[in-house]
Amino acid sequence: MKKIAIAGAGFSGCIIASELAKIQKYKIDIFEKRSHIGGNCYSERDKQTNVMVHVYGPHIFNTSKKEIWDYISHLTPMKPYINRVKAVTAKGEFPLPVNLRTINLFFDKNFTPEEAKLFLTEQSDATIVEPKTFEEQALKFIGHDLYKNFFYGYTKKQWGVEPKELPASILKRIPVRFTDDDNYYNSLYQGIPEFGYTPIFEKLIAHDAITVHYNSDFPQNLKKYDYIFYTGPLDAYFDYEFGQLPYRSLMFEKNYANQTYQSNAVVNYCEEKIPYTRISEHKHFAPWETHEKTVYFKEYSKQATKTDIPFYPIRMAQDKSALDQYVEKAQSLSNVTFVGRLATYRYLDMDQVIAEALQVSQKCLATPMDQWPRFPEPVAK
Ligand code: UDP
Repeated sequence: MKKIAIAGAGFSGCIIASELAKIQKYKIDIFEKRSHIGGNCYSERDKQTNVMVHVYGPHIFNTSKKEIWDYISHLTPMKPYINRVKAVTAKGEFPLPVNLRTINLFFDKNFTPEEAKLFLTEQSDATIVEPKTFEEQALKFIGHDLYKNFFYGYTKKQWGVEPKELPASILKRIPVRFTDDDNYYNSLYQGIPEFGYTPIFEKLIAHDAITVHYNSDFPQNLKKYDYIFYTGPLDAYFDYEFGQLPYRSLMFEKNYANQTYQSNAVVNYCEEKIPYTRISEHKHFAPWETHEKTVYFKEYSKQATKTDIPFYPIRMAQDKSALDQYVEKAQSLSNVTFVGRLATYRYLDMDQVIAEALQVSQKCLATPMDQWPRFPEPVAK
């Protein structure tokens, strides 16, 4: 049996372990820093209310790839769930993403879809041809007023920098619609696991060939292993040799109430003067359950230090050269694959992480070890 070491028990680590374990040729040790599996997808029942809590913030599974939806649905029962977000601005509460209702309510109009489209074209900055930054993307597609009220303050709080320093790709995640559709995503499939996310990971690692070492840093000496899959932060693997790659971290302030706190699972607070970015009330993520009491979380964003849990890679233009150096150094190694949001330093959703981990696993099952990839091929949303 060849020996495999995996750093991290999130989706990437657990999927690769599960796929490789199936062929009975590998003995796999997963080293997990925290006391639980699941990475930032970990969920557990709150002791006081019995509500299923997404401990590291809201996770709504969405994908347009049937094979990924089938994969997760085979691991756990998925319940239909549509993410509908409300945004609180200085001018009141509106549906987000920006849709026909948002435009009509915000500008106090009664536009048809065509009129609303024309109106936004008039609002938009036509001098921007190819938007590169978040701000240019916003000014070109939604214009100054919607940008300032819905995106400027929230984005400054979320990322800690001016939106003109961020890439346009961050805003491209959110659609603009000229219908009343208030679904947050455009994905074909969307849902939440009936029993939370943690049973998915329990199922993935339930194999004699897999051992999870909890509360364990990744060992310095890996000589006894034939191959390594690393899912931690890319810069940490190389001991920050080319400097720290910036990540945002999140803090959650827990609150209890005797009755429902807000009508929606997620309410965003877009004004810069409100210190948190959003409030999530988790019983709404499981509308098939009944709970009298409630638990909700105010979410704050901050720069991640080396000891904070990293959530979002920031990917500003100025960090590209350090990132390129890390990638080049990684490419020069053998016997290690870098996979997942932290190790590829890309803003991946759960479905992309799963697709990339499955792709890596398939490549590993089909080729000899010396041909296993350093990184997955990027999978688009
Ligand atoms: N955003 C914003 N206002 C909002 C919601 C989102 O400015 O009310 C911006 C913010 O910069 C955020 C980005 O849009 O990081 C992408 O939003 P998404 O909901 O995809 O972020 P996630 O759920 O991954 O945190």
